Amino acid sequence: MTRTYRVAVIPGDGIGKEVVPEGVRVLEKVAKRHGITLKLDWYDFSSCDYYLKHGRMMPEDWKAQIGGHDAIFFGAVGWPKAVPDHVSLWGSLLLFRRDFDQYVNLRPVKLLPGVPCPLAGRQPGDIDFMVVRENTEGEYSSIGGKMFPGTEREFVVQETVMTRTGIDRVLKYAFELARKRPKRHLTSATKSNGISITMPYWDERVEEMAKAYPDVRWDKYHIDILTANFVLHPDWFDVVVGSNLFGDILSDLGPACAGTIGIAAAANINPERTWPSVFEPVHGSAPDIAGQGIANPIGQIWSGAMMLDHLGEGEAAAAVLKAIETVLAEKTLRTRDLGGNADTVACGKAIAEMI
Ligand code: ATP
Ligand code: MG
Repeated sequence: MTRTYRVAVIPGDGIGKEVVPEGVRVLEKVAKRHGITLKLDWYDFSSCDYYLKHGRMMPEDWKAQIGGHDAIFFGAVGWPKAVPDHVSLWGSLLLFRRDFDQYVNLRPVKLLPGVPCPLAGRQPGDIDFMVVRENTEGEYSSIGGKMFPGTEREFVVQETVMTRTGIDRVLKYAFELARKRPKRHLTSATKSNGISITMPYWDERVEEMAKAYPDVRWDKYHIDILTANFVLHPDWFDVVVGSNLFGDILSDLGPACAGTIGIAAAANINPERTWPSVFEPVHGSAPDIAGQGIANPIGQIWSGAMMLDHLGEGEAAAAVLKAIETVLAEKTLRTRDLGGNADTVACGKAIAEMI
């Protein structure tokens, strides 16, 4: 029986156009090996080129065009010389996040061989955890405003909104993820000593959810000491879950602890698969190196592995990660940002061949 998935491929801008083809090269190879049929549809929208031609980032019927796909394989968006970043971002990725209800943002933090670790003395194997960020509510509500503007009494207020449904669904995802991993350990980010209403409520929901997962060991740390522990004791963590703001911070700090931006992968996930999820590298369009063919394609390729995992193709996903690790261990196959001399295509081809 072959499993068939429809994937919308969106290269976007800058190095997105260079690394996405390498991600696709690897996906096609691993699909062939594992009896998977991938139906790929390429789209030129959600890019600044599209904006310059049409005056908008995406066509009016974008949702009809890609909403029925199983996943979206995304490169990067942004070309600040031509289109301001807030226009390109709000006209594309943030619409996906909202309209496709991608309430989980997921980032693996894993130190791979051949990647210089900014934390002294850490070896591959020491750092291997996942950051789960709530992606739709919390601190990033737009509720609030300025009172008495321009006077001595001027003040601003911005509300944090945490719903029971919103918290529970991301916690459920995080506990399920922890349950599937060998360490079965979940850490919750909190700040209930200083934030006296929303954070105790978050803690309360964690405690409640934990009852359904007696096989998962869990703990909670205040965000201040938690960030310190990312740096001091990264080996402690397995699955780390946080609100929108705390998760935002942790999901940048985590990958930074495990090496360079060129290899970090990410996903915005709608776990029920009612809507497609987006799989994209952490890095942006990197205008400074775009067009030179030297970008590291590993962040994109790793995102492809996350996509396979999400689609239920765990074995294929593991095969991609193994191929990445094998290639990284070989200096000559690494791109320049990792001290090698391979170009984007050579690195992508090497990983595809390794599968
Ligand atoms: P964003 O706007 O999406 O937050 P950015 O434009 O601030 O991102 P990036 O595009 O990620 O930043 O680039 C940051 C730096 O990292 C740049 O110097 C860029 O060249 C480098 N970089 C990013 N991605 C890669 C990659 N895949 N390979 C090599 N270098 C990269
Ligand atoms: Mg940018």
